[in-house]
Amino acid sequence: NSFKDYSISNEILRALDQLQYHQPTPVQREVIPAALLKNDMTVKSQTGSGKTAAFAIPLCELIHWEENKPQALVLTPTRELAEQVKEDITNIGRYKRVKAISIYGKQPYARQKTELKQKNHIVSGTPGRVLDHIQKDSLSLEKIKYLVIDEADEMLNMGFLEQVEAIIKELPVNRTTMLFSATLPEEVQELCHHYMNSPIDIQI
Ligand code: AMP
Repeated sequence: NSFKDYSISNEILRALDQLQYHQPTPVQREVIPAALLKNDMTVKSQTGSGKTAAFAIPLCELIHWEENKPQALVLTPTRELAEQVKEDITNIGRYKRVKAISIYGKQPYARQKTELKQKNHIVSGTPGRVLDHIQKDSLSLEKIKYLVIDEADEMLNMGFLEQVEAIIKELPVNRTTMLFSATLPEEVQELCHHYMNSPIDIQI
């Protein structure tokens, strides 16, 4: 079993080889092919399972380089995770020259605004700051085709689920939504039920 079994371009395969990702992890084996087919999905998975690459690999593969406006949005409960997601995407998408940006609180707002005006394929960020940029018109959502909600149970614990919902309501309806969570509390299941189309259930 190898990454070459999936329809992933050589540019991405080369980066995975360099990162010494020789074999997909169990969660990647389930998520990557389904994501490449643009299925909605709910993924029950722990940190350390390789879940970040599980969505970063298909996102890097699916984005169109020529498009300047963001095509994927990844929501995370913490700044650290937003930054980690950006770094992983940058590494995996290196040879495709995928542009990722992370936006979160406690970073100068003006600089983020300037960065958001440049070419960005994938945006990761915490819900509060993402919503800020949406409301101030500095984050364009019109080309978003992919939404990832990472660590949804943590979003719930930190009281971010309402903001997540407010963001979802601003997104194009024609999109793929992937939700990752270690546990699936009722509120998280509700969110999936409301905003996903026949999601695949992946449990590792
Ligand atoms: P995560 O669950 O996303 O926090 O990933 C845990 C760690 O596994 C990270 O340090 C990744 O760089 C690493 N990783 C992800 N996928 C693979 C893979 N297929 N082979 C080896 N390491 C991996």
